[in-house]
Amino acid sequence: MAPYKQLDFLCLDDQFSEEERMVRDTVREWVGDRFLPGIAEHFEAGTFPMDLVPELADLGVFGPTTPEEYGGAGLNNVAYGLICQELERGDSGLRSFVSVQGSLVMWPILEYGSEEQKREWLPQLASGKVIGCFGLTEPDFGSNPGGMLTTAVKKGNDWVLNGRKMWITNGTCSQLSIVWAKSDEGFLGFLVPNDTPGFSAPEQKHKWSLRASVTSELVLEDVVVPDSTRLPGAKGLRAPLSCLTQARYGIAWGAVGAAHACFDEALQYSQERIVFDKPLAGFQIPQAKLADLATKITCGQLLALRVGRLKDEGRYTPAHVSMAKRNNVAMGLEVARVCRDMLGANGISLEYQVGRHMCNLESVITYEGTHDIHTLAIGHELTGLPAYR
Ligand SMILES: Cc1cc2nc3c(=O)[nH]c(=O)nc-3n(C[C@H](O)[C@H](O)[C@H](O)COP(=O)(O)OP(=O)(O)OC[C@H]3O[C@@H](n4cnc5c(N)ncnc54)[C@H](O)[C@@H]3O)c2cc1C
Repeated sequence: MAPYKQLDFLCLDDQFSEEERMVRDTVREWVGDRFLPGIAEHFEAGTFPMDLVPELADLGVFGPTTPEEYGGAGLNNVAYGLICQELERGDSGLRSFVSVQGSLVMWPILEYGSEEQKREWLPQLASGKVIGCFGLTEPDFGSNPGGMLTTAVKKGNDWVLNGRKMWITNGTCSQLSIVWAKSDEGFLGFLVPNDTPGFSAPEQKHKWSLRASVTSELVLEDVVVPDSTRLPGAKGLRAPLSCLTQARYGIAWGAVGAAHACFDEALQYSQERIVFDKPLAGFQIPQAKLADLATKITCGQLLALRVGRLKDEGRYTPAHVSMAKRNNVAMGLEVARVCRDMLGANGISLEYQVGRHMCNLESVITYEGTHDIHTLAIGHELTGLPAYR
């Protein structure tokens, strides 16, 4: 197939600064040269290419909006969005790895951590020397994390943590876990080194989605950590939810990247595939599909870009992010499903990308707030009436 050419139907390139385009193109090139050649094998084996972590760190994609004094790149949020777009063009597992590290581990430390915690952890996380994970979901509490059973009990100057988290990205391959627990003082977040006695993170196997991503349980059995590991600024459920807003923002861009990958593959395939003596692309039904998908992808790009500019201006709200995540992941999934169909039997082969993206996006539409939960969040914003319970 010809090299990847991203759809830019409405000349959106003009809307990005030179620096934003440069960041995007650098990540795009890396994904094409270094990541894509091995992804099908990793997807099949159910592994993440950990050997590429130092290269990802060199690219500056771990916490790229983190100030330079803490080891970040100090980029704006649109540049961060474009990074997510390009990473997820490779695989949702790759974007998930980077989202967790930056938005769910570095961001809460930056936002809610003490100066000491920031100086200790952020440079190590930005350089990929330490990998982090974010433990909120439990076996019985996903959409409603307020029901969590994990507890933190104060004993002198220490806390004793007990409980079980599930579906935690990077759990097994991380060295540091942000663990959310309920206590007499409300919901609290702790920076738990994974070698703390009583802590374990067994990997969850047998997934058919996000196979090139490590997903784990976190088991906490009388884990004792000093009060200095508590995020002092994180009080109440608002804290973990605000971290998720950061990550969802990246997902809204990432899903556009996955859609681009599928569209590019299906467009090229339809131009080369001969059916009934002419290219598939020359028939009206495939053209209608492509026109529809190109329009939806373009709308998704515009939505992500607008939310990104609002975020950089400090004017974005969680409901804006809900709209972008909800729309763009559903869009990406639809694009992937239609493109998979357009590739016929080849569409189910890992030699092509569409099937892998389609399977991955089934996780992406569930995690970081399901499609329906974001529907309710937008409904809440519009009506003022919460309909979650
Ligand atoms: C691959 C993967 C990686 C993940 N990584 C992480 C991670 O790193 N850290 C972490 O903490 N979590 C992670 N998660 C967990 C994820 O965030 C949860 O799965 C998600 O929040 C949904 O929770 P649930 O699975 O318990 O589904 P449920 O909450 O049980 O939802 C089931 C269904 O019920 C619907 N529903 C729920 N409540 C309502 C309601 N009030 N009204 C109407 N419909 C409702 C949902 O939309 C959904 O369709 C990950 C999940 C996956 C699949």
